[in-house]
Amino acid sequence: MSNVIELRSVRRSFVTKPDLADRIATAFGAKSSARVLRAVDGVDLEIAQGEVLGLVGESGCGKSTLGRIVAGILPQDSGEVFFNDRPIVNKTQQKDGSGLGVQMVFQNPAAALDPRQSIVDTITEAPIAHGLIKRSEARGFAIEALKRVGLRDDALDRYPHQFSGGQRQRICIARALAVDPSVVICDEAVASLDVSIQAQIINLFLDLRDKLNLSYLFISHDISVVEHVSDRIAVMYLGQIVELAPTEELLENPQHPYTKALLAEVPGLDKRLTDEPGLEGELPSPLSPPTGCRFHPRCPIATQDCRSQAPRLESTAPGHQVACLLAEKNS
Ligand code: SF4
Repeated sequence: MSNVIELRSVRRSFVTKPDLADRIATAFGAKSSARVLRAVDGVDLEIAQGEVLGLVGESGCGKSTLGRIVAGILPQDSGEVFFNDRPIVNKTQQKDGSGLGVQMVFQNPAAALDPRQSIVDTITEAPIAHGLIKRSEARGFAIEALKRVGLRDDALDRYPHQFSGGQRQRICIARALAVDPSVVICDEAVASLDVSIQAQIINLFLDLRDKLNLSYLFISHDISVVEHVSDRIAVMYLGQIVELAPTEELLENPQHPYTKALLAEVPGLDKRLTDEPGLEGELPSPLSPPTGCRFHPRCPIATQDCRSQAPRLESTAPGHQVACLLAEKNS
């Protein structure tokens, strides 16, 4: 299988504004120093054509930033992102629609839709702007787009507030697919929906993957959501990938203590892991990540070496990579 997306050593930082303590210290003569948040810190990943890659980790671990970089919404500071072997051009610099191949579906469909824009305009705005369809074709095009996501044509002239949360997310999916992408980044795309609606939207994503041979980067804080859709799962912690494996392998043979802790928190997901401790403590601030292995302050098996040595992501089995100094002993 060829890769549609490839990331090489991708990094992205943000300079944050000084907080109250910093401002007071500066007012009293302390030297002001910029606070740099390393949201994504050296990520290598591939997504194959037709593959669903799940990306899990706690809120604040950098997975949404990574999704936005892959979608071309946010430029990386360094490293490379390729779409079909060509560097992804940041959407803010695109004039020719060359970035249409990767689209994004967000967590909150109410915020993602313009309340003053009718559904037909919502769906056809981008394809008209990029010359994919003529204005005269808009209604027929939108009817087909709605049908594809399970909505009827009487939605055409209505507005977002007239739909339920699940229906609004279907409209967002129809809009994303309207420019015929190969890759869809789903950023917590079912997190705001009721559990019964979540299952419907997940089934829709899978159905569309099969029909259109789409690839997904499926981002979620909830590993029990990701395991239903993903061919492989990448686990992210404080800006770095700490484990990557085919879904079944990751669930049956997790090797990183962070992955084990995430799995231990999901009731009934893996009976073999019920003796593993759940996650302890808070996610450290990415403004000052721990030295050595970033997980060491929360790791139940950390050694002295873990405080000073940063583990690299290394293969422990075919297709299975882990960033842990004790990975093999621990398997
Ligand atoms: Fe735990 Fe050490 Fe492995 Fe990090 S390197 S996950 S601290 S055992």
